[in-house]
Order: sequence, then structure tokens, then C-alpha cells
Amino acid sequence: MAHMKQYDYIIIGNGIAGFQLALALSQDTFFNNKQIALIDKSHKTENDKTISFWEKGTGKWDSIVIKSWSEALIFTSKKELAIKLPPYAYKTIHALDFYNKAKQELSKQTNFHFIIDQVLSVENSKQPKVITVKNSYEAKHIFDSRITEDYFSKSNNYTKVIQHFKGWIIETETPVFKTDQFTMMDYRIKDGDQTTFTYVLPLSSTRALVEFTYFTPTLVDDAIYESYLKLYISSLLKIESYSISEIERGSIPMTSFPFEKYSTKHITKIGTAAGWVKGSTGYSFKHTEKKVASIVTNLKDGNIPSKNLFKQKHKFYDKIFLKVLHDENNKGEWIFEQFYAKNSVEAMFKFLDEESTFIEELKIMKSLFSLSFIKAFFKTLMN
Ligand SMILES: Cc1cc2nc3c(=O)[nH]c(=O)nc-3n(C[C@H](O)[C@H](O)[C@H](O)COP(=O)(O)OP(=O)(O)OC[C@H]3O[C@@H](n4cnc5c(N)ncnc54)[C@H](O)[C@@H]3O)c2cc1C
Repeated sequence: MAHMKQYDYIIIGNGIAGFQLALALSQDTFFNNKQIALIDKSHKTENDKTISFWEKGTGKWDSIVIKSWSEALIFTSKKELAIKLPPYAYKTIHALDFYNKAKQELSKQTNFHFIIDQVLSVENSKQPKVITVKNSYEAKHIFDSRITEDYFSKSNNYTKVIQHFKGWIIETETPVFKTDQFTMMDYRIKDGDQTTFTYVLPLSSTRALVEFTYFTPTLVDDAIYESYLKLYISSLLKIESYSISEIERGSIPMTSFPFEKYSTKHITKIGTAAGWVKGSTGYSFKHTEKKVASIVTNLKDGNIPSKNLFKQKHKFYDKIFLKVLHDENNKGEWIFEQFYAKNSVEAMFKFLDEESTFIEELKIMKSLFSLSFIKAFFKTLMN
């Protein structure tokens, strides 16, 4: 293969992780002389998701934030909580704006090369290779956002809950939504006893994303999400007349599957494929920022890029939480009610952002103390 194209780094996947990594490399002069290829089968021209996250004050994605909120509502069958978020804000971006921003910034740099092609396989060797439908490429290091086949064949051996949902962006003719509050979780309408809730992001007084969400081990038919969306909109939002302008569907793994073990000296898994989706929440956008910063530091220090990307104690907490949700799926509403009612915003977000101290973690655990958690703790310990 005399003409095999060679790069310093190849990033497979121009998704949330691939583009965040490429942007971080492009913003550090250390990588100015590195040739970096980005391979994706898609041109990334679809707004395939609405991405939300919390952060303190201003942040690096503010130029594409479409809406932010300072108050979160949680409804359970027993309680209504209104949580003031400052110093945090909950922010939302369109994935398409993120892809466009990344493409625009990266195409200004001559050392970034976009390749539209489907990756068939990757060879793990000292000079790793990417085999695509049209070509083959070599690199000193490969960053790969494809999920390992093992996940599909072996994930049932691990604790797995799926965060799956269908959402509609609905438009009304008259103003109906309060734009400074969003609904994080509303458990007043549920599918039986399972952990299911509605999530509402008011994007303006006449426009909102309404999403019916499951944290359950199995998926459901499309018509089921739709029936709960209709019921929620008519009986709780009390909206009679509306149109649907966009549809969002998603299925996010919340699992203890050891994705992190699939990185090697020459190939680093990134994104969902690397376990960057937090097992207990399904959020990954802000975690990705931190993982990418650690990868950049590791590369500059000459370390294996995947070195020290995870804090084991947080993996353990996530496993316990998942175990409860998996074994006693009816407990979800109670768990989230306790979590949001008994802890301060700062304590909750620091814990979910994996920035809490052990003392702070003990306080969170105290708020969830129950037989279910004790059982899950010992089962996780023995696994
Ligand atoms: C609908 C939805 C909404 C979400 N909302 C949020 C949210 O609000 N907040 C949050 O923090 N997280 C959210 N997530 C979770 C998570 O942030 C996303 O799933 C995120 O996109 C994961 O990033 P990723 O880079 O791993 O994967 P992706 O963004 O899916 O990127 C993977 C890329 O790899 C490419 N690819 C895959 N296979 C190949 C191949 N063989 N050859 C070439 N290219 C390939 C794909 O085309 C794609 O561009 C959401 C997920 C979904 C599905």
C-alpha cells in the first residue's frame, strides 16, 4: 500500500465527542504541526438532537446556546419542587449549530482534513490503520467513537438501563409557556410503575420541547410515547390546540458495561463508545469537555491518551444507582424526589459533575439511604 495516506491523528466520528476533541486540538498551538483527519460517514447536516447541560456562569458554547433557564421544576405524585439554579444555569443548544460551529472553525485550519467515508475496521498495531469503504489510512494514534460490537453481544452481562424517549417540539398560537422555568422531570403521568417521566423545555412562550422518557431495561413502541405525550399536553399542560414542528427520538445507554477497557496504547475510544455518557444520568456533553481536556494534557505529556480519564469512586456510585433502577425500576420517582428535595443545587451538580468531596458524597448517600440502596451496594461490591 505505497499510497496509504498517513496522519498524526485520525478521529473517527464527527459527533459530540469527535468534534469536541478536534476543536480542543485546534485551539492548542502544540498541535499546529500535526496532521489530523476526521472521518465520518455523515456530512452532519441534520439537527439530530437537542443537547442540554448545566454549567456555572458563562461557558465556551454560549455563542450557540438557544435558551437557558434559571429554575428547574420537579413534579412527583407527592411533591412539586422549584429549584433555583444560580450560580448554575441549564442551557440548550441545537446539535446542528454545534456541528456547524465545529466545521466552520476546523476548516479554517489547514492541518485538519475532512473525509466522508464509512469506517469498516481499525487495526490495532504500532502504526494503527483505519479501513474504510473507499480507502485505508494510517495514523500515529486513532480516536474512535464507534461503539464496540461487544457492547451489543455482551452488555446483558452488565447492569443496563436504557434512557429512551420521544419528544415533540410543539407550537401554540397563544403564549402558554413560562420561559424562565423548565421541567426536569414530571412523574405525575407514568407508564405503570416504571421510571418514566416527562421533560419540558420551553423555548419561547409559544414553543416547547416535550419529551416522554423512560429509564427502563427495554424499549417500547413509538405509539406508546405518543399516547403519553398527547395525554401530558392535554391534561397537564392543558393545551388543546398545537402543531408539531420537530420530532426527537433517542436511546442512550445507562450501563456499567466497561467501555473504558476498549482503549489501547494506539487507539483511544471516545464518546459513548468510551463510557463518557454518565451511567446514572445519560448526560455526556459537559463530561466530554473534561475528558477531552485530559486527553489533550496526556498527549502533550507523552502519556497514553486514555490515562486517568475516570474516577473509580464515581463509576462505583453510578453502578449502585443503576442496580437499584434496574432491579427495582418502580423506585425511580422516589430516588429522584429524595435527591432533588434533600440536597442543595451546588451539592447535586458537584456530585453529578464528579467534582464532589467524600463528605459531600456521604451527604448525598444519606439522602438516598434505604434498603434498596443497601442491597444494591452489597450486590455491586460482590460483583
Ligand atoms: C436524541 C439524543 C439527545 C441527547 N441529549 C443529550 C443532552 O441533552 N445532554 C447530554 O449531555 N447528552 C445528551 N445525549 C447523550 C450524548 O451526549 C449524545 O449521544 C452524544 O451525541 C454522544 O456523542 P458521541 O460523539 O459519542 O456520539 P455521536 O454524537 O453519535 O457521534 C458519533 C459519530 O460517529 C459517526 N460514525 C459512527 N459509525 C461510523 C462509521 N463506521 N464510520 C464513520 N463514521 C461513523 C456517526 O456518523 C456520528 O457522527 C443525547 C443523545 C441522544 C441520542
